[in-house]
Amino acid sequence: MKKPFITKEQVEEIVKTYPTPFHIYDEKGIRENARALKAAFAWNKGFREYFAVKATPNPFIMKVLQSEGCGFDCSSYTELVLSDEVGAKNHDIMFSSNATPDEDFKKAFELGAIINLDDFTHIDVLDKLTGIPETICCRYNPGGEFKTDGSPNVMDTPRDAKYGMTHEQIIEAYKILKEKGAKKFGMHAFLASNTLTNDYYPTLARIMFQAAVEIKEKSGVEISFINLSGGVGIPYKPDQPANDIAKIGEGVRKAFEEILVPAGMGEVAIFTELGRFMLAPYGMLIAKAIREKHIYKEYIGLDACAANLMRPAIYGAYHHITVLSKENAPLDCKYDITGGLCENCDKFAIDRDLPKIDLGDYIAIHDTGAHGFSMGYNYNGKLRSAELLLREDGSVKLIRRAETPEDYFATFDFAGGDFNL
Ligand SMILES: *Cc1c(COP(=O)(O)O)cnc(C)c1O
Repeated sequence: MKKPFITKEQVEEIVKTYPTPFHIYDEKGIRENARALKAAFAWNKGFREYFAVKATPNPFIMKVLQSEGCGFDCSSYTELVLSDEVGAKNHDIMFSSNATPDEDFKKAFELGAIINLDDFTHIDVLDKLTGIPETICCRYNPGGEFKTDGSPNVMDTPRDAKYGMTHEQIIEAYKILKEKGAKKFGMHAFLASNTLTNDYYPTLARIMFQAAVEIKEKSGVEISFINLSGGVGIPYKPDQPANDIAKIGEGVRKAFEEILVPAGMGEVAIFTELGRFMLAPYGMLIAKAIREKHIYKEYIGLDACAANLMRPAIYGAYHHITVLSKENAPLDCKYDITGGLCENCDKFAIDRDLPKIDLGDYIAIHDTGAHGFSMGYNYNGKLRSAELLLREDGSVKLIRRAETPEDYFATFDFAGGDFNL
């Protein structure tokens, strides 16, 4: 059973100041999880997590993670600016982007971020724009199919993914980068998303470690850090078992000791770039049941919509729902839980067994801490909600105010505007 980290009583207090809908994050959960990750990789001297900013681009959340030792993984100009504002310096930032605009490369270089080149042709682009920095990383795409053993297993097809360099290209890339003056080299790969198995990172690590040994033999370049990137998932459904990060860390250690240590590469630092795993379970979207509808199906309409949480609408993603204060009530009703967008996909749940919902009930939509608020948008003129942080002492801090119509209209000049064509 998934248990919300706040109660109806707490929500009733919060809405006196901050009305629904809002996303709320659990600082305690975030910190404990970040520490568990760090402990799982404590065997590796250079280990560092670079939080994937796109998952939850909020400076307060980033500060929490920064105080736990995390750096930041950015993929765009504004994410770089955000990390800079939070006080991340130089190698506190990894820049992993694709189809990268010139301005983004320049900004990353100016901030001293570790630049992760997505493509072979980007070597020349970066060289002309800024020169090749001393520390540089390349993104690897081994092609073919990716599969973990064991159950449940994970399958993906890197050959169909737009990211990274081929095996031949990456070996050549390191040679050229070395000729151009680079001194410290990293390797990065992201081969499967939201994996629910303790084998994903260890399997990925084996592929990357073997490639690193081959690169050393063929190009004379010694890799200093290997970035396992994101992809460790979370159980969105209540019956799915969670990953065990300690086991994952052990699995990577085993591969490290079997492959890198014998090759004289025992000093390689392991980086991770997790987003979902760091934040998803520690955020919830809290909404209110404001309308009901009885046609061919039973509907409950919320004051939140897909503009606040897009994953169910675009991926059919499951997000667990708890009706606050009815945690133990029988699930004897079946509802579609909807938002108000003029899009039939704007449903947080379809045919979901839930307790009887009364108008005014508060609905907790679970696991929205990553790729939740951040994927929000303004379709139908819907406004983005507030973000709140539940502190460890139980107090609640506003970490982003809700949008107002003025925000929505900020790109027009109504006051001084001449709207005649
Ligand atoms: C999205 C992304 C991540 C984070 O992925 P999660 O699945 O949220 O862990 C990390 N690195 C890169 C380059 C990404 O694009």
